[in-house]
Amino acid sequence: MAYNALKGIQDILPPDIHVWQRIESVAREIFQRYGFQEIRVPIIESTDVFIRSIGETTDIVEKEMYTFQDKAGRSITMRPEGTAPAVRCYVEHHLYNLPVPQKFFYSGPMFRYERPQKGRFRQFYQIGVEAFGVSQPSIDVEVIAMLKNLLEGIGLKEVKFELNSIGCEKCRPDYKNALLKFFESKLSDFCPDCQRRYNTNPLRILDCKVERCIELRKGAPAVAEHLCGDCREHFTGLVSRLDLMKIAYTLNPNLVRGLDYYTRTTFEVTTEHLGAQKAVAAGGRYDRLVEEFGGPSTPAIGFAIGMERIATLLQAQNSELRTPQPKVFIATLGKEAEIEGFKIAEDLRARGFWVEPNYAGASLKSQLRKADRIGAEIAFIIGENELKAGKIQWKNLKKGGQGEVEIKDIPAILTDDIQTSNP
Ligand code: ATP
Ligand code: MG
Repeated sequence: MAYNALKGIQDILPPDIHVWQRIESVAREIFQRYGFQEIRVPIIESTDVFIRSIGETTDIVEKEMYTFQDKAGRSITMRPEGTAPAVRCYVEHHLYNLPVPQKFFYSGPMFRYERPQKGRFRQFYQIGVEAFGVSQPSIDVEVIAMLKNLLEGIGLKEVKFELNSIGCEKCRPDYKNALLKFFESKLSDFCPDCQRRYNTNPLRILDCKVERCIELRKGAPAVAEHLCGDCREHFTGLVSRLDLMKIAYTLNPNLVRGLDYYTRTTFEVTTEHLGAQKAVAAGGRYDRLVEEFGGPSTPAIGFAIGMERIATLLQAQNSELRTPQPKVFIATLGKEAEIEGFKIAEDLRARGFWVEPNYAGASLKSQLRKADRIGAEIAFIIGENELKAGKIQWKNLKKGGQGEVEIKDIPAILTDDIQTSNP
């Protein structure tokens, strides 16, 4: 019986994994500079955590959640995103009592029952950040600058920052009415989903990906024209700071995002190199969410980047990401040599070198062929004669050159490249 991974769910293997690790390590380093600390939140939560935050009439909650009953009959959902668990965690542990702002990052798998396609999986990975406690646009700018530095730091080229403000609960009703009025006369031409959204959540129509709906919504009122005074001031503060810091962005009045918890600032990072799934990262403010989870009124902002899409972009750019390869291969002939080889391997590993020993007999020729195949830089060869003399042969497989060295001098020749290259 042969098994396959589930549809839309993939294994991540070497060499791809090295691209992933590089993204993660750059992200960690950048986050540290900005004071974002890691949190590890669970992969499963009470289903309510997501319904209440993401919103009952969003695509995620309506059709995409992996929800099941546990053995005690509780409704459990595998997290489709990271903000709701982070907010649940923030409130549960009273982190609002700590100095403001509290800044966190997380990384790990998310689950959405979507139609699998290029750049869209059912288990996908995000790295996300959340900053709690600051309402001023200063932190919006910081979070956006951090994201930009992260993407540049991993070597991503040609990405575009799209920016919008979707207002707050004060300006939302006015904007909703304007939208309803605009859509009313052509409602029957929209897709069935949008017709439903008209009654449940008209903002969602602006996020519909159906070609016909995109065409029909052209000329729809922009939320910017309906912002209340405070939201307008916040947004002006944000864009003027971005301008001052020379952070490029494009205003996109239709950027409403697929989750209901957003307020004010929303942004998305897109690329033209991924086909239909253009968004590599997205985020925004969610100033009401902490309160909705039972905490004190606490403004907050965050983003999440999609690991698969970023990894694909980096691979396509084929930047100088090198797959790590062993430093040393130890070829041995005979039992005694094999044991000596293992000793040398252990010694070199303790010194920090990646060493591959010979595990299973084989001729010298085939051992050296293997050393080449796994990309080892230097091969050591130990036979009976060498053992007797306390010496071993070395061969530089990358640069050419070979010679003999006393066993005690092996570490020295590894740190001194000159001796192991051709004179
Ligand atoms: P999209 O418009 O592409 O569906 P989204 O608005 O649903 O994205 P968010 O919930 O904001 O996405 O997630 C942030 C990022 O996570 C996205 O920009 C994308 O890079 C990535 N992402 C979201 N869903 C998937 C998925 N099913 N497979 C792979 N990556 C995903
Ligand atoms: Mg989506």
